[in-house]
Amino acid sequence: MTNILNWPDYKVIQVPELEHDHQVHAEVSKPPTHCPHCNHSEIVGFGRRDEVVMDTPAHGKRAGIMLNRRRYRCQSCRRTFLEPVPHKDDKRQMTNRLIQYIERESLRRVDRKEPPRLERQVIKRNQRPRRCPIQQQT
Ligand SMILES: [Zn+2]
Repeated sequence: MTNILNWPDYKVIQVPELEHDHQVHAEVSKPPTHCPHCNHSEIVGFGRRDEVVMDTPAHGKRAGIMLNRRRYRCQSCRRTFLEPVPHKDDKRQMTNRLIQYIERESLRRVDRKEPPRLERQVIKRNQRPRRCPIQQQT
């Protein structure tokens, strides 16, 4: 079964109707089964935190996954850890498909030395919503 994100490993909680943004409130559907530090299987919930993971823009609106991420504590080594987030870049608060999208779009722009005027205008117009607030690189 899939959802608005097309990912069964996310559980979509709510999709609010917003004028300027696409927001999907979600959580990871499958909890982790063992501690990433010591591999022990006895882990208990240790709170949650809200994170924003930027996703590919849809219908000209920037899109973000409002993720309610769980924290766990290992009963063996007592260390805490956040649940892994599928489809997310390791370093950035972005989905892998957003990174691929940005790479593809920037390649497309470099490829074309002299875009026709109309296309150039369209590209210019699209640049604003495509930029996302968390993105650090250009
Ligand atoms: Zn542990």
